Amino acid sequence: MTQSEKLFATAQNLIPGGVNSPVRAFRGVGGTPRFIRSARGATITDVDGNIYIDYVGSWGPMILGHADEEVVAAVQEVAAGGTSFGAPTEFEVELAQEVIDAVPSIEMVRMVSSGTEATMSAIRLARGVTGRTKLVKFEGCYHGHADSLLVKAGSGVATLGLPDSPGVPAVLAQNTLTLPFNNVPALEEVFAEHADIAAVIIEPVVGNMGCVPPRAGYLEAVRKLTRDHGALLIFDEVMTGFRLARGGAQERYGITPDITTLGKIIGGGLPVGAYGGSRDIMNNIAPAGSIYQAGTLSGNPLSMTAGLVTLRRLRDKSVYDRLEAASKRLCDGLGDLGVKTVINRVGSMWTSFFTSEPVVDWDSANKSDRQRYGKFFHAMLDEGVYLAPSQFEAGFVSLAHTDAVIDKTIEAARKAIHRLHR
Ligand SMILES: *Cc1c(COP(=O)(O)O)cnc(C)c1O
Repeated sequence: MTQSEKLFATAQNLIPGGVNSPVRAFRGVGGTPRFIRSARGATITDVDGNIYIDYVGSWGPMILGHADEEVVAAVQEVAAGGTSFGAPTEFEVELAQEVIDAVPSIEMVRMVSSGTEATMSAIRLARGVTGRTKLVKFEGCYHGHADSLLVKAGSGVATLGLPDSPGVPAVLAQNTLTLPFNNVPALEEVFAEHADIAAVIIEPVVGNMGCVPPRAGYLEAVRKLTRDHGALLIFDEVMTGFRLARGGAQERYGITPDITTLGKIIGGGLPVGAYGGSRDIMNNIAPAGSIYQAGTLSGNPLSMTAGLVTLRRLRDKSVYDRLEAASKRLCDGLGDLGVKTVINRVGSMWTSFFTSEPVVDWDSANKSDRQRYGKFFHAMLDEGVYLAPSQFEAGFVSLAHTDAVIDKTIEAARKAIHRLHR
């Protein structure tokens, strides 16, 4: 038995499914999850000493690569002065300024401890501001695990093929209207039928059913329809924020949402989330306003520090050109291997779907052959490449993925496919 197998056997007795977040359990691909001991740059090392080129990047945050020296040094220094005070700190002010400078629609921002908390709070804010109840979301989009958002969700919910989660009260689920992504008539229809829509929440580029870009003009139509009907537009940029551009998808596509949620990269690999918008909207949050939201560890000094170092390194816009070039090299290389896949990519977010039709929404993503993906995943693991253990997740390229690392990955894929065909 490997150390990973031993640990997983023990963990399954102690933690539901042996993991603290479902997709980690490898149920989407079968087999035993690798327990990770450490990571550096573009690679992770498991407890058995196997080294893998990593395209999960802790599901998005590690845009600088793992164990970045500057991030680690800054966190160590701040930790030595205390890890949490439950009182305001300078770090929070600095990170808020950094986020506001970068993200076009954000004039004020509130820090929380996870993406789930960010979206949950953003929805409360939207409902409080509009005095309306209903929420529109899109099939295959994942916005964290708050009750109202666990309806036809992506990520682990899609991976496990779960119908809508038990434990979500029907009265809450009824207030969530779910539509296909990339479909303007469906959104027009829902606005024609319902006057009580507080907000539309969307991943502007979906990552949580695998990478699915918006069609040309789609985000513009979503913006126009929400504005025309007095509903707020929430861009969930927990994944895309600082990933697709410094100002996120909203900068890349030139769309201004009313509320933006962030997470992942802005914590530099430590727990974080944030939501922001115009001064007018954000001043409704307590104690400035009456919509309540709070957090014991919100604005944690270690998370703020890791985030600050990371975001400052992303000020240099040439980093996004480097990410684009490396990601294109990877996807071009994978696309050249003669396997029937559809590769979707926006910037450094990508997915290779095992299907032959374009993937534009959940229905088309769901036509992918998960078994073939699982086989490819394990063949890649054997070749030293760690992909997302699910067909319905995006892969991430970091600044530590040099051309040499990318070429090694493509070579590994060539061997993996050769072995699968033998
Ligand atoms: C990861 C993610 C979340 C949830 O963030 P957590 O920190 O896991 O709670 C929400 N929305 C999107 C788009 C995400 O990718």
